[in-house]
Amino acid sequence: MQIINGKSGWIEIICGPMFSGKSEELIKRLRRAQIAKRRVQIFKHGSDSRYDATSIVSHSQMSLPGVAISDINDILKLVDDRTELVAIDEGQFFTDDILVVTNKLANQGKRVIVAGLDMDYMGNPFGPMPKLMCSAEYVSKQLAICMSCGDPANFTQRLTQATEQVVVGADETYEARCRLHFEPPEESLLQKPESAEKANG
Ligand code: ADP
Repeated sequence: MQIINGKSGWIEIICGPMFSGKSEELIKRLRRAQIAKRRVQIFKHGSDSRYDATSIVSHSQMSLPGVAISDINDILKLVDDRTELVAIDEGQFFTDDILVVTNKLANQGKRVIVAGLDMDYMGNPFGPMPKLMCSAEYVSKQLAICMSCGDPANFTQRLTQATEQVVVGADETYEARCRLHFEPPEESLLQKPESAEKANG
């Protein structure tokens, strides 16, 4: 991805399934910005209303310190005027207000990077991610490795029967799958309605 530095800010999205290296890619971009002595602030979704110190941690144990927030609008209070790069991890968990907030920050001349799952365990679009991808200047789609066959994997397979959209967990709860081995649950938009299947013979 080649970024042309202009006077205005911009939005970058890093998306894909679990295990696709979104956090690693985010940490890489942040480390490079820090080497370039850019002023960076890092946020991640947290489930309570305090501003907890937290870290972005990848499955390969790379990490960078940040702040956990539950309301995306709080970023506007927490970001310093002098900050040049604002990073947000777990973008899928925030409300659609993330669209307004990220565009405001970019309009102020800041580089904004959001990492997040583009699809949930059903293969349905996840939270504000699709809309964010539309308003971003740069979108990087990452793929993982399918745990069934080793091909590139675009989907996150949930290994348990839970039906809530958000079930926090990693290796024991989810695995990456390619489209051949992804088994979408009934609620998935990717499932053909029975009537359509019948009509098609
Ligand atoms: P994400 O943020 O997209 O969930 P991470 O950046 O946290 O991904 O982790 C990526 C790392 O996960 C890889 O570098 C690799 O070490 C590990 N990993 C475990 N399972 C897989 C998989 N199925 N495909 C690719 N990487 C995997």
